Amino acid sequence: MIWLQMNDDSYEYDVRGLLMAFYPNEEIVKTQEAQPVASWRRHLTVKMAPEGIEVVLVCRWDDEEGPEETSLTGRKATEGAGRRETKSMLKRMVYDILSQDTGKVLPWGTLTGIRPVKIAMGLLEEGESAEEIAAYMKQEYLVSDAKARLSARIAEREKRILADIDYREGYSLYVGIPFCPTTCLYCSFTSYPLSRWQPRVDEYLDALEKELAYTAKAFAGRKLNTVYFGGGTPTTLSAEQLDRLLTFIEENFDFSYLREYTVEAGRPDSITEDKLCTLKKHGIGRISINPQTMNQKTLDLIGRRHTVEQIREAYRLARSLGFDDINMDLILGLPEETIDDVRRTMEEIEILAPDNMTVHSLAIKRAARLNILWEQYAHMTMENSDETMAVAAGTAERLGLSPYYLYRQKNMAGNLENVGYAADGKEGIYNILIMEEKQSIAAVGAGATTKAVRPDGRIERADNVKDIDLYLSRVDEMIERKRRLFDWM
Ligand code: SF4
Repeated sequence: MIWLQMNDDSYEYDVRGLLMAFYPNEEIVKTQEAQPVASWRRHLTVKMAPEGIEVVLVCRWDDEEGPEETSLTGRKATEGAGRRETKSMLKRMVYDILSQDTGKVLPWGTLTGIRPVKIAMGLLEEGESAEEIAAYMKQEYLVSDAKARLSARIAEREKRILADIDYREGYSLYVGIPFCPTTCLYCSFTSYPLSRWQPRVDEYLDALEKELAYTAKAFAGRKLNTVYFGGGTPTTLSAEQLDRLLTFIEENFDFSYLREYTVEAGRPDSITEDKLCTLKKHGIGRISINPQTMNQKTLDLIGRRHTVEQIREAYRLARSLGFDDINMDLILGLPEETIDDVRRTMEEIEILAPDNMTVHSLAIKRAARLNILWEQYAHMTMENSDETMAVAAGTAERLGLSPYYLYRQKNMAGNLENVGYAADGKEGIYNILIMEEKQSIAAVGAGATTKAVRPDGRIERADNVKDIDLYLSRVDEMIERKRRLFDWM
């Protein structure tokens, strides 16, 4: 356990984020006063004063000769510094001390947020070159050379991709289908077993159509740039249900400016020929078929309940039906997977040759079953490293795919990142728009989050309830939340 004592709570989030990154398995407990020494191994004290910052880390341990204690201290004057500058300074000081204590260097330095490329994008839009951006990220946030250059490179590519999209005048539509064939061990999305909800899926579509009808009307004066079906697993809907929903969207929205239409088919055990034909008939250009891993023993362990062969079959079927923009999601750091398992997965992916590949570093969120069943899985390795990420990057390169978007999550294995790779012209535009927070996303369905990017750049959100029963009974309230969120339009 680590005690954290601070006299200014407004910086707690930043300091806590760094502690979690350096000591991922330790409990961090906030305290108002110094704790009796017997109750801790590490005690971090942060004192913020008008003239400066003081950071002290005291570490205790017992060895054969009795208790030992060391302390690391940092002090810096902050006179004249604004809040942003003070925060940066504090984070660098805490980083230095924790790095000395653990001997670790974090690839993303002091950055604990989920959108590091947004920083690079902001600087690019101000006219900075890629070299200047990388140098700034290294100096200001202590980001590694490789990650700083990667951020600058991705920002440049994103800017090129968005150059001919009038995203400020546009918006995107997200449709959430919260059903899955089974629940994966690490899942923290809005997902419920289809078997339980099957009899009420049509009722769910009724509610979705109500939200969609409102959205179409509210956004009638704006250009619809992208549509994204996520979840859950959208292809848990039957071909007839997909047809109903896609027809409703076609009839209610103007597709004149539509640049991308994605459906996350996701789980191979939900994909059939008639469903894929329905997607094709309605002009869906981009689909995802997500293996996560091509190792059967891991698929079994994480509760996917489908085979590796089903992944290959679903992929070949989609190709044979003419889908030429297929994404595959993969996760590194899955329970008990070694770098050799990842190599095997990547060899298989190379044979399939998708147009997009999104490589995630396992992130265990509080709501995931993996966290809830933690004791059962705690003895298993769940590791990711730069070396493993490099295996995936090598596959992407050989397939002619290069990085085009990137984001991070809390509690990621190896404290690394998720990277989307794509062939030129096959980048997921919706992914860029949502990550860089460039435009409003109107989201419908249980657990969907609508995001408003206001003309002054301010970002506000409205969440739909996650529980399907509540969603069905309160859909009018979800519509009302959107109405309030966009009262400036
Ligand atoms: S397929 Fe995705 S949404 Fe469904 S249970 Fe697995 S992780 Fe969750």
